[in-house]
Amino acid sequence: MTIRELIEEQRRRMGPGKPVERFAAAMLIPAVLAERLAGLADRQVGQLLLDEVWPGLSPLAPESTICLHAADRLRGQMKQSPTCPKCDSEMIRHIGIDEPDFLKCALLNCGLRIQET
Ligand SMILES: [Zn+2]
Repeated sequence: MTIRELIEEQRRRMGPGKPVERFAAAMLIPAVLAERLAGLADRQVGQLLLDEVWPGLSPLAPESTICLHAADRLRGQMKQSPTCPKCDSEMIRHIGIDEPDFLKCALLNCGLRIQET
């Protein structure tokens, strides 16, 4: 199971459902997730903050600013992103978690994804 699948599984089990599933979500999955996170590089943890934590925070709350700062610091200096070869929009650089690093077009309708070499 990938780290992102673990995160999704824990979220799914936190929803309304059987108490046994909620117990597993509360007790078992965090331990597995913590173990997997320990194996990641700082830059990957920064990417997870950006992808999995920051979107759930209120943009008006200080937590949002702190989270973005921590994500930027952990991800480190990012190379300038190229423009999308398909639509000329900005490409956003992503640190790979369960996959190699990749660039993704900022335009949702385009969605072009290029693996970093
Ligand atoms: Zn594009």
